[in-house]
Amino acid sequence: MRATVMYGPGDVRIENVPDASLIEPTDALVTVSFASICGSDLWPYKTMEPSESGRRMGHESIGVVEEIGADVHTMKVGDLVVMPFAFSDGTCGFCHEGLHTSCVNGGYFGGDADGAQAEAVRIPQADGTLFVLPGGHDNAQMASLLTLSDVMGTGHHAAVVARVGPGKTVAVVGDGAVGLCGVIAARRLGAEKIIILGRHPDRIALAKEFGATDVVSERGDEAAERVKELTGGDGVHSVLECVGLDDSMLTAIEIARPGGAVGRVGVPQEDTMSGGRQSFYKNLLIGGGPAPVRAYIEELLPDILDGNIEPGRVFDRTVPLDEVPEGYRAMNERESIKVMVEP
Ligand SMILES: [Zn+2]
Repeated sequence: MRATVMYGPGDVRIENVPDASLIEPTDALVTVSFASICGSDLWPYKTMEPSESGRRMGHESIGVVEEIGADVHTMKVGDLVVMPFAFSDGTCGFCHEGLHTSCVNGGYFGGDADGAQAEAVRIPQADGTLFVLPGGHDNAQMASLLTLSDVMGTGHHAAVVARVGPGKTVAVVGDGAVGLCGVIAARRLGAEKIIILGRHPDRIALAKEFGATDVVSERGDEAAERVKELTGGDGVHSVLECVGLDDSMLTAIEIARPGGAVGRVGVPQEDTMSGGRQSFYKNLLIGGGPAPVRAYIEELLPDILDGNIEPGRVFDRTVPLDEVPEGYRAMNERESIKVMVEP
């Protein structure tokens, strides 16, 4: 079969690899109907140590169950399933608490298991990992359903950690696909004011359609000033940090209101975090991490099926598998917000 392999910065190739197949009795084999390229795939695309064996890429997909192991009971061959970006058994203590990304038998696709930017993918812990979609959705909803793999669940996680709720003021740092889904999540949870920090006109336009009430295109101290102006000098109750850079985290801390909360979902690119002293004196709650998107599918799915939210609009380009390298280039150069792959 064909799959996406990354060998170093800017070096993504589509190659013939051994067919995905069942290894454990808890595995399922899924034929990929739709996959996507994630903003987090761009970090290795920029900085990966060159590797001779390469790294299999992709952790977001919707597909059809092709084969199941003897211990898989919650799905059957032919079911359409969403694959969260992490696999999890669904039975351990952390899974029961809704923190599937800390599952004791879990791991990540495109790392602990092979990637989904491929014709097929082996799913470990299939019963706990895959979500079987109900029938009856139309094809126009496929893009939005695909975001349940990662970006919509991740934006929602940022909002939950940042304690977004009715009447709250919210700022979203980052106008990538996760930030845009963060806007959707904030509105869905009842936020009164939603400020998007970003500067790409196409993304800002979409953020407004998703529910952003204000736009701040400045950066650094100027951005913090603008957010304070928009919030009577106090700052916002909730900040969704959807970038992962030191500067963006510092901005998040600066624009939070004393006693407020910052939900981090941008993958941190540094080991240390700036703004520690400032966040202490403001009594900020700072939390977040890899979103347990598996835990959020049940909650978010009805709003997609009812057409209340359309996170699939973050996709602005679709490519076949052979053009995945071009998709990475387009996203990396900000020509595209998010690329869907149709293998
Ligand atoms: Zn678990």
